[in-house]
Amino acid sequence: DFCTLDALIAAHGATQPRHTALAQNDEGLDYGGLNARLDRIAAALQRDGVGKGGVAAICATTSIAYATAFLGTLRAGAAVAPLAPSSTPESLADMLADCGAGIVFLDAGVAQLLAPVADRITARRVSLDGSPAGQPLEDWLAPAGRLPTPVEIGPGDPFNIIYSSGTTGTPKGIVQPHGMRWSQFRRVVFDRDSVTLVSTPLYSNTTLVSFLPTLAVGGTAVLMAKFDAAAFLALAARHRATHAMLVPVQYRRIMARPDFDTYDLSSFRLKFSTSAPFAAELKADVLKRWPGGLVEYYGMTEGGGTCMLLAHEYPGKLHTVGRPVPGHDIRLIDDEGREVPPGEAGEVVGRSAAMMAGYHNQPDKTRAAEWLSPEGFRYIRTGDVGRFDADGFLTLLDRKKDMIISGGFNIYPSDLEAELAAHPAVLESAVLGVPSEAWGETPVAYVVVRPEATVEAEALKAFANARLGKTQRLADVLIVDSLPRSAIGKILKRELREAYGAGGA
Ligand code: ATP
Ligand code: MG
Repeated sequence: DFCTLDALIAAHGATQPRHTALAQNDEGLDYGGLNARLDRIAAALQRDGVGKGGVAAICATTSIAYATAFLGTLRAGAAVAPLAPSSTPESLADMLADCGAGIVFLDAGVAQLLAPVADRITARRVSLDGSPAGQPLEDWLAPAGRLPTPVEIGPGDPFNIIYSSGTTGTPKGIVQPHGMRWSQFRRVVFDRDSVTLVSTPLYSNTTLVSFLPTLAVGGTAVLMAKFDAAAFLALAARHRATHAMLVPVQYRRIMARPDFDTYDLSSFRLKFSTSAPFAAELKADVLKRWPGGLVEYYGMTEGGGTCMLLAHEYPGKLHTVGRPVPGHDIRLIDDEGREVPPGEAGEVVGRSAAMMAGYHNQPDKTRAAEWLSPEGFRYIRTGDVGRFDADGFLTLLDRKKDMIISGGFNIYPSDLEAELAAHPAVLESAVLGVPSEAWGETPVAYVVVRPEATVEAEALKAFANARLGKTQRLADVLIVDSLPRSAIGKILKRELREAYGAGGA
């Protein structure tokens, strides 16, 4: 019963041509207009040799033009490679070469960024914003009325190549097939009355898992180019938003606004979160003050197994990331690749119909990311350490790479961060292991203090260490103004580790 996203969008064009598909600022595009636009983009791509088997890259700020370039590429039968404009020029050039894009859609900001590596870019450039970043989109489009050649697409064909966030190392190109997306569309959360507010960048899988299913059912996606808590709230009230996917740091900023309660958010049905640890007290605050339900997803761009916490239904489980989504199997394994006994911690591995085909051009890394069950099934390793409770809810302890081994004991930074969070002056913290002659590794903490609070680093260290076990004690606490984050809001511990080695904050 497989069906492509493009076929669904084409059907909405026929059945509800005047229903808004995409909106941004004062611009809107209905399903009729969207389909006419996608035909012209797809026909131009095919004319330029980018059809089935080809790749079109997009590197730009969120806009309606971006969204249509993405969907037009699918209509042409090609795969999309959405690249992060927050990357370095070298990394962008690497990703463009790696994905093999015949065309890159970009805008003025990205063209400027690419200037130092311009001679490495072989893909044809099309400018989405009318700037001289490339051939202007309007010139490049196929004439109105020109139809693309229909393409036969199966569940195994590549839908997009998404480069991983690079939170733990160099980005890897994750090839997601159409079948993986299709299985995401079937989670019944959106319908044609959905108004989904999209405030995270379009290149991220975090965004795509709410944006694409909204369009698959004929709903409306309201786009925001740059997140700002006040603007988000105003937009949500104005559009009577029903759904939104936000990362935890966005929830933190929104809930911290003193005028939060003055916005009418009664239209919300469900809010989502994924991609980084979401503090239980923050989830509780969202549930209390923001109408509608709250769903947290835990998973990876690579797919495999996803967990889901219906926070509004399980208020006693807010410290967990929930239970596996139906059809997803999640197991925990030890360093030798054996399943751990019930109740013990282990690396999370998962299997489902929503799995990557592999890392692009990296068969060794693909193999290293797999775990074969004793029955011979292929699972994907997450690199995260977790533990199931007796009710089957998963608690995440940490990323394996962030785990600290001190004097032979395993220390989970998240335990130490939780103790620091209990101090009223602490806004957020990041605990990491640094080399120690005596212990091999020892934990240190970077702490951001609440704006109105004053506290000394020594006092925080004494506070936390009084509550921590002997083997867990912090060797050092540093107070900083902010923690380094990726564009999608993940704390970059590797940067802190380098900063500490270089002599402090
Ligand atoms: P890279 O693989 O390049 O280091 P990344 O792992 O951050 O980057 P993603 O696929 O975007 O790239 O993120 C998946 C990871 O994000 C998970 O492995 C997990 O560590 C973290 N994560 C996702 N959802 C949650 C969640 N609900 N709570 C805590 N952490 C989460
Ligand atoms: Mg990862």
